[in-house]
Amino acid sequence: MSIKVCKFGGSSVADADQLRKVKAIVDADPTRRFVVPSAPGKRNADDTKVTDLLYLCHRLAMSGQPLGHVWETIEQRFQGLVTDLGLSIDMQPALDEVRAEIEGGAGAAYAASRGEALNGLVVAALLDAEYVDAAEVIRIARNARLDDSSYELLAKRCTGSGRYVIPGFYGAGPEGEVLTFSRGGSDITGSIVARAIGASVYENWTDVSGVLMTDPRIVAEAKPIREITYRELRELSYMGASVLHEDAVFPVRDPGIPINIRNTNDLDDPGTMIVTDRDPGDQVVVGIAGSSGFTEFMIEKALMNAEVGFGRRVLDVFERLGIPYEHTPSSIDTMAVVVSDRHLGKRAEQVVEDLYAAVKPDVVTCNPNLALIATVGKGMNHRIGTAARLFSALSTSQVNIRMIDQGSSEQNIIVGVEGDDLAKAIRAIYDEFKS
Ligand code: ASP
Repeated sequence: MSIKVCKFGGSSVADADQLRKVKAIVDADPTRRFVVPSAPGKRNADDTKVTDLLYLCHRLAMSGQPLGHVWETIEQRFQGLVTDLGLSIDMQPALDEVRAEIEGGAGAAYAASRGEALNGLVVAALLDAEYVDAAEVIRIARNARLDDSSYELLAKRCTGSGRYVIPGFYGAGPEGEVLTFSRGGSDITGSIVARAIGASVYENWTDVSGVLMTDPRIVAEAKPIREITYRELRELSYMGASVLHEDAVFPVRDPGIPINIRNTNDLDDPGTMIVTDRDPGDQVVVGIAGSSGFTEFMIEKALMNAEVGFGRRVLDVFERLGIPYEHTPSSIDTMAVVVSDRHLGKRAEQVVEDLYAAVKPDVVTCNPNLALIATVGKGMNHRIGTAARLFSALSTSQVNIRMIDQGSSEQNIIVGVEGDDLAKAIRAIYDEFKS
């Protein structure tokens, strides 16, 4: 029989009303047997996530200050859930233990993970499910990456035919200590559970109806994407479209378990299916994502193409400064290196100086304020005219293209434009490819 894993994000478990929706969703389908909750998130724009409150408690404890009202807020949130939902569990012993551990000097990961751990107890009581402590079944290596032994541990632990609740975000490290994935990591837990138990689908319940074709802050009427491949999603997420933790794709991609992004607040919406492969039909572009904050270093040198090791020496400059590069478009006598300002910081002059020293170029120019836009879709593969449509949409909108990079995947065309043109360019590309 098929089994579904359902991960519920912070806003889906933020209060009792939301948790009632969770129960209705799980009750509606007997194959929804594995539930992975996040910690309670924000109930409104001014609220604070329980995870953030727990990190704050840890910092207070570290600096010898009382946890005071911060802890009280956490306690009230969990006690409030139990009361409002009419559950007959007593959360006090678990809350007291967490408080004592944090005050006694437990690490930041332990503190942060308790949002999921405590919420798991509430959700398990609500769903009449078996609670499995994630530290028992999820192993995390020191680099915050998954240890593959988790799959077997999970499969062996969850052999019953009932429901299971496995809190997201954390697991046990090599010494048995609690470790977490990076922020938003409950998505990864859901994905691991889906793979371990051979789920038919991994439902990721959140507060939006799936992935939109582009940023709704730029195109308010952006259409939802019904189906997208893992790879297309990865290319879009890289440029800033975020609906799922980027590491959540890997556990389910190889076994080909689809991820269905669904909206807890809109059950009629089918959401977005993330799949291994799909038939793009007539749809050339699946999504457009972009962000500003990039700088391009353009290196010109006559006969550069004949100089063995030129590219390596250029990239070596960036490596030595610890700056990762995003793209390296090149032509016969020029090579450009595009880096994110987040990594570059205030070192542009240093980079230029080092490039002069490393490759003796004719000239190096530093062009800041670059925005990159990725236009993604497997439908563009072998389709004549996609680039022409893209470029003419941009020129009609008076957007100057400063850089072009079409990856070898042929599923993504990246253009660099002036930072100020970002929104205009995305709008133009969306209008060209929306249908
Ligand atoms: N609660 C954690 C966070 O806020 C993990 C998650 O929600 O996925 O990052």
